[in-house]
Amino acid sequence: MIKVIKSAKVYCPEYVGIKDVVIVGNKIEGIYDKIEVPQDFINIEVIDGEGKLLVPGFIDSHVHITGGGGEGGFNTRTPEIKLSDLIYGGVTTVVGVTGTDGVTRNIVTLLPTVYSLEEQGITAYCYTGSYDVPPIKTLTSSIKEDIMLVEKIIGLGEIAICDHRGSQPSFEKFLSVIAEARVGGLLSGKAGVVNVHLGDGISKFNYLFRLSEESEIPIEQVLPTHVNRTLSLLKEAIKYTRIGGNIDLTTSSNIDCLDEDEYRAGLAIKYLLDNGVAIEQITFSSDGNGSMPVFNDKKELIGLEICSVGTLFREIKYAISLGVAFEDAIKVVTSNVARILHLNEKGEIAPGKDADLLLIDEEKLEIEWVVSKGKVLMEFGKPTVKGNFE
Ligand code: ZN
Repeated sequence: MIKVIKSAKVYCPEYVGIKDVVIVGNKIEGIYDKIEVPQDFINIEVIDGEGKLLVPGFIDSHVHITGGGGEGGFNTRTPEIKLSDLIYGGVTTVVGVTGTDGVTRNIVTLLPTVYSLEEQGITAYCYTGSYDVPPIKTLTSSIKEDIMLVEKIIGLGEIAICDHRGSQPSFEKFLSVIAEARVGGLLSGKAGVVNVHLGDGISKFNYLFRLSEESEIPIEQVLPTHVNRTLSLLKEAIKYTRIGGNIDLTTSSNIDCLDEDEYRAGLAIKYLLDNGVAIEQITFSSDGNGSMPVFNDKKELIGLEICSVGTLFREIKYAISLGVAFEDAIKVVTSNVARILHLNEKGEIAPGKDADLLLIDEEKLEIEWVVSKGKVLMEFGKPTVKGNFE
């Protein structure tokens, strides 16, 4: 099946002008100034991109696809993600994680959800492990074997440090699981990245600085996340980028009731750029389907909400409203993530890359079309497919 998206403003993520983009099967065939589609030829679907911005599909590298939470007891466990959540959020590639609960949500329950999303048209991967260091469960006998032998497992995480809910690993244990993920990645041609959850504890980036100072492991092996949790953590994150580290900002936050000192991702990216951090060192992820406690103005817990993948684009738009350039803002959910996770077919509009694309209305900045692996999952703002039980 051939598709032509005509006359869209194409951001690869760099802006290349108003172009026609040709899709053959599940791949981008090419970018052209103007394609005349013949009437008496094989069936070619034409999608009108006039007045719209064409960008790579978003990659969300941290989503609790099987559900997460549970820290308030069994009835606070959050549900599995819905296909339509991903489509509305413009997420065409997702990396699943488990969290605090590595007992009932682990790699055995994560992988079937990865396969299910793949069958439904989304590209999905996952990390092995959970908060615990070393992990309380792997699929095979080790982290290394999981990453090496299971195609869909591309790294380790989210492992938790600096958090009362984590397993309080020694630095040596922390170092050894990262080393294992690294070698598993090397031997299988994957990134073997370790997604490191930073809590609100006092040690902050301590282990990550030590990793750089006391080991041979390259700094790109780890991607610390939730670094916009507080301004003080964000300041440490700036120091960490100065020695070459990449950092991930979490977009899910209760923007009507931010924690004291919490920086929403859209504001945090502006702050980082203003402090000289290169855009290439920053990624966004949503923490989707994790649990988010809601407090009233007296800081009393009044309920629980679910983190949403829809916040990725919400925070990109917020960053743009603060003056961050559109093509920089979208890099944090496209090309930067693809580069760090070694997802070589993803994150860019270029010949030979996967046809994962979004058409965004230029005026309203709303996602109107979602194409994933060459298949239209949303048109005119409405999903064309639903999950089986939605
Ligand atoms: Zn986390």
